[in-house]
Order: sequence, then C-alpha cells, then structure tokens
Amino acid sequence: MEIQYVIINFLILAAILVIAGRKTVKRIFGGRLERINRELDEAEATEKMPLPEFKAPEAEEDSFTLPKEIEDEKLLAEKKLQAIRLFGERECREIHRLMIDKTKKELMESFRETVSGLLTTEPYYSKIRAKEEETVDRILSEITLTAGDMAYLKRHDVLYVTLMSAFPLDKKLVEKVDKATTELLATVNGKTSLWVKEDPSFIAGLRLRIGDTVYDGTVSEELYHFERRLNREPLLSDNAVKEITDDFLKTAANFEPAINKYQLGRVLTISDGICWMDGLADIMYGEVIEFECGDRGMVLDIQPDKIGCVIFGNFENIESGSKVRRVGRIASVPVGDSLLGRVIDPRGNPVDGNGYLEIQGKRPIEVSAPAILDRAPVNSPLFTGIKAIDAMVPIGKGQRELIIGDRQTGKTAIAIDTILNQKGKNTVCVYVAIGQKESLISEIRETLEKHDAMDYTVIVSAPASESAALQYMAPFSGTAVAEHFMYEGRDVLIVYDDLSKHAVAYRELSLLLHRPSGREAYPGDIFYLHSRLLERSAHLSDKLGGGSITALPIIETLAGDISAYIPTNVISITDGQIFLDSELFNEGQRPAVNVGLSVSRVGGSAQSKLMKQVAASLRTKLAQYRELQDFTQFGTDIDEVTRRTLDSGKKLTSTLKQGRYAPLDNWKQALILFAVSENLTGDNDLEDNTYQNGLFSFFENEKTELASLLKSGQKMSDETKDKVREAIVEYTAGV
Ligand code: ATP
Ligand code: MG
Repeated sequence: MEIQYVIINFLILAAILVIAGRKTVKRIFGGRLERINRELDEAEATEKMPLPEFKAPEAEEDSFTLPKEIEDEKLLAEKKLQAIRLFGERECREIHRLMIDKTKKELMESFRETVSGLLTTEPYYSKIRAKEEETVDRILSEITLTAGDMAYLKRHDVLYVTLMSAFPLDKKLVEKVDKATTELLATVNGKTSLWVKEDPSFIAGLRLRIGDTVYDGTVSEELYHFERRLNREPLLSDNAVKEITDDFLKTAANFEPAINKYQLGRVLTISDGICWMDGLADIMYGEVIEFECGDRGMVLDIQPDKIGCVIFGNFENIESGSKVRRVGRIASVPVGDSLLGRVIDPRGNPVDGNGYLEIQGKRPIEVSAPAILDRAPVNSPLFTGIKAIDAMVPIGKGQRELIIGDRQTGKTAIAIDTILNQKGKNTVCVYVAIGQKESLISEIRETLEKHDAMDYTVIVSAPASESAALQYMAPFSGTAVAEHFMYEGRDVLIVYDDLSKHAVAYRELSLLLHRPSGREAYPGDIFYLHSRLLERSAHLSDKLGGGSITALPIIETLAGDISAYIPTNVISITDGQIFLDSELFNEGQRPAVNVGLSVSRVGGSAQSKLMKQVAASLRTKLAQYRELQDFTQFGTDIDEVTRRTLDSGKKLTSTLKQGRYAPLDNWKQALILFAVSENLTGDNDLEDNTYQNGLFSFFENEKTELASLLKSGQKMSDETKDKVREAIVEYTAGV
C-alpha cells in the first residue's frame, strides 16, 4: 500500500512540477519568442511594402528638352561627384576633372547620335531639305578669292571647287554654284573645275570648298563648334549642360547653321613632332592649326610649296594625308587673376590637379615688345632679399638681370628666394620652368605654397618630359601671362629657368625643320629668339599705367665658361648678370655670387639711398680681400694693415652668406652691412644668424626711432650715423 501512496505522491509532485515549470519557462522565454516573431513579421511586412516608384518626367511634345541619355549622364555625373566628396580635396579635384572629361566625351557621342537620328526623320528631314537653296544662296553671297588662291592661280590655271552635301543635291542648285564660281574666277582669268560629292557624315547641310577655303553650312560643323564650347565650359555647374544642348538643338532643328569659313590643308609627312603640310593657303607664322584627330600644332615654317609646324603633345594619332584646319588665331594663353596660385602648361591648361581654370581673357604668346616711347627709365628697386645681390648688384623694376653659373650653384635658389621676398609687395611672380625635372617643379611649388607665395605666383611648367615644341613655347607663354599684369599697371617678376634648355629645345626644332645650323649647331636666329623674348620686359611709362616686368633669365654654363655661344648672347641682351661661382659655392660661400664678374648695368639708380651709402665701398673691399687672400695664402709674415684688411674682408664675406628661404628686409641688410664695414661687431660669429637677428630685434624694439629712419631708406646724416653706431656698440657690448 505504501508503495502505492509513494507512486501516487510522486505522480502528483511530477504533475505539479511539470505544470509550474512550463509556466516559468514560458515566462522566461515567452517574451523573447514573441519579440522575435514580431520582428520577423515586421521584416516581412517591409519587404512586401512597395518602394517609392521612380517616375521619369514625361517628355513634352515638340519642345526641345534634353534627350534622356543626356539627363541620365548628368545625373550619373552628379552622383559620382557626391561619392568623390568622400576623398581628400586634392584627389577629389583630380577625379572630378577626369570624370568630367570622360562624361563630356560620352555625352558628345550620344548627342551626335541623337542629333543625326532626329534630323534624318520627319518632320525635320523635309524642313532641312527645303532650306538647301537658302543655304546655297547664303554661301554664294560670301565667296571671295583669297590671296592664297591668287598665288595658286599664278602657277596653275585651274582652281578646284568642291561642293559636298549630306543628301543628293538638286541639279538646279549645282548649276547655280557652278555658274557663280565660274564667274568669280573669270574676274581673275582663272578657270574652275567643279566636283560634286555626297558625304553622309555631314548629317545635314552642304559645304563648298574653293581652293583651300571652305564655306561650311553643315550640321557636323555646328557639332564641332558645339563640342569645343562643351570642352571649354565646366559641365557640372547646375544647368550648364542643359543650356548648351538646348541651345544647340534649337538651331539644329530650325536648321539655320551659320556659314563657317575656314581653310583646310593636308598632312604630307609627320615625324619627331614636326609635321609638313600643303594647302592652308593664307596661313600665318605662329598660327594654331588643328588636325582631324583633335591634336593641335603651331606653324613655324612657311615655304612656297609646304608648311612646317610643331605639334603640341603627342602626335601618334596624326596620319599622313589627313586633313588639317586653320583655327584662325595665333597661339595664345589664358591670362588674368584666376591664374594666380596655379600651375599651367605652356598652352594654358592647368596641370596642378586643382580643377578647371576660369578663363578671364587670352593673350597671344608672341607680341612685339613695348616701343621706346612707351618705356620709362628703371628707377625703383626690386628687392631680392639677398644681401650679396641687393647691396652689390641691385635690380630695378623693368630690368633684365641674368643669373648665370654652372650646374648646382644655387641659380634656382636665388630666383625662388626673390619670389619669396615679393610677399606683401604687390608684385606678381611668374616662374617658367623649362626642361626641369618634374620632381623639382613640384618641390618648388610646395616651397612656394609653404611660404604663402603661391597666392601671387603663376608657374608655367614645361618639364624635361614635354616635347621640344612645348619647351620652346613656355617662356613666351609665361611672358604673355606677365604682360597682362604689366599692362594693368602692376609690377611683375618673371623667372625663366632656364634659357639654356630653351635654346636646346629650339635647336632641336630648327634642325628637324631642316634649317641650316650655325655655331654650336644652333640656328642663326637663336639670338633674335632670346632678344625678342627679353625685350618684352620693360618699365612702362606712366601714360601706359607704369607697370613693369622684371626678368630673371637663368643660363647654365659648362665649367664656368661664360664665353660660350648662348651665355654671351644672353649676357649681351640683358642689363647685367649675377655670376655664380662653383668654387665659391663649394667653399661654403652661399649664395656664391662672384662679385668681380657680376654687374647690374641699370640697377644703381634703383637702389635705396641708404643701401647705396652703406654699400658704396663694399665691392672694392671685397676685391681687395680676394686679392690679398690669394697673395698671402702661403705666407705667415703679415703686417698689421694687411691683417686688418684680411680680417674685415673675412667678416664681410661671412656676413654675405645667407641661407635659403630667408630673405631680409632692405634696412636690415643695410644695418648689418654698416655694422660690419664700420667694424663694430666685435668677435661675434657672423655666419651664425644669432648676432644679426638679435641686432635687428634690438633696433626694432628698443631703438624704434632709428629703425624707422632706416626703414625710410633715406641716406643717413652724420648725426644719424653716429647714433646708429652708438646703438650697435651698445648692443654688441650686451651680447
Ligand atoms: P641646377 O643646375 O641643377 O638647376 P641650380 O644652379 O639651380 O642647379 P639649386 O638647385 O638652386 O642650383 O641649388 C643647388 C643646391 O644648393 C640645392 O641643394 C640647394 O639647396 C643648395 N643651395 C642653394 N643656395 C643655397 C644657400 N644659399 N644656402 C644653402 N644651400 C643652398
Ligand atoms: Mg636650377
């Protein structure tokens, strides 16, 4: 019985446990289960929820809205732009630029297709065909014979006339053209030979060619101009694409293309960046031409039966026999304030990855130099901030001062320091790098940026990797950029780094153009090349605004030989030279200005009165020192006077040493040179800048009156001199 009770109790207990347990388990996990189920349901519900539908805007009937591909293209571009905002600023700009170029090309292709599709269907097709006669009349009202045609007719009696159209032309129209051209040629006793051709690539319209001159009234010509406009303008500005394309579509569909007049030629041979062509009857020297593939070149040689040109950039896509057209202008570059802070190539394209360059104006790269009557004498100083130069070879605004020396003697360093010293002096600087290493150019840009000098500087870069044509063009482009500022009445400093490489680039071009070579294989006009370049630097008269271009051309010599061909040329063109001596440089005398061989032919009148007073005897003192130094090199027996001259000369040369990127104000230079020449510096080490800097701040903080007298740049009276002397002695005693 007991066992029965035990079993019954056990069962009751188990039942209670099971019931109570289930409740607890349910209480513990039920909440979670419910939550999971709820979430699952919600997720399912979201999946089923319809997404907001993207509704394309409905096309309006018969109004010229943007074709859908183009809209999509633009949307895509904007989206990409948003994405690249995640990158750093510089990368972003670079990608932005690449992307725009790519989409522009794609945009153009799809646009061309749309247009040709649109214009070959009704109702546009019949509209266009109906206007053919009008186009013929418009063309015929414009035809004339050019000087080139006359010259051709002197040697041949038939001038070829070609009439080309997209669709087969009416016989009546052909006869009309034939009659008009025959009449035109009869006026000069010439004959015509008319050819009629069809070319579907025109899309619509017709084109008449008389000799080399083309009168173009086709849609493909309009598309060409449209593409150029598209390439000129930054695309992603709000409605730019829409505006340009709408504009175009309206003209195209109304079919009223302008009659564009230009001349054509043909490529004869092409090699080594030089192209020979025929045709192009009235071409001018220096004019830009465009090849079928879109590449461009500049005419540098005109002969009776052929024309030679140099090609900018690569020339792989140009084929013998392909067409060339005149662009109708001399090679020119963008100019204006938007260039400040930018690095451009000689054609004016930005190469710094900072995106589009706003084009405010253009200037031809070759213009004639200001006439004598437009010039004013050089009379105000341009400070380089370098003691050895400002004291002994001073440079004036409008002067051309050559920096000449062997390789690695600090030529570029002087030019860069001079640019740095123009900070806050309202002078624009242009640095033209010709045939330099790209790494060096980027280093220079970084240095200028670091010292906030890019704000007023433009770099024109034609590195060694660029073609000779671009290296040849670079200094002319840089001068055009500078001239714009000069004619605005501003002061400009231009550095040509360096003209030896420019001469080499020009020699290469000349030899390839088969011009006879002269001394050192340079062409005969190498002197003229540099003189017409450097003559453009000038100080303009007040009537023309009083602006100036100061030029610092750089020439590299071989083993100090300044009597080689190019150095002597440029020395005779410029108004003086700063000769850098590699021996001095290696001795540690930096900047290594060789005082004996350096001169400034006009700068003297441009020096401040104070500096003139202080530096008057400097040259002789240094010359004496150098001579004595050589003389006493091995002797030990030196008399007192000689020793004193040697000591003061040594101090002077130490004072003239100056590190890079440390240009000094003019009054500071005068002060330290005065202190040294008066022998007031005691035993202080002048090579180390502590003494000098201490002296300057002593004057600035404690002798403010004297400092402001010096800052005025006026000559010191005897009284002032005494006071300055006293102050220097006071400072030296306290060091
Ligand atoms: P290149 O012939 O290669 O163009 P360069 O004559 O232009 O050379 P820089 O490149 O200006 O010479 O200078 C050569 C080297 O001398 C550089 O390393 C530069 O830092 C150094 N240097 C130039 N001037 C000074 C100076 N005042 N103090 C110290 N170092 C200098
Ligand atoms: Mg250099």
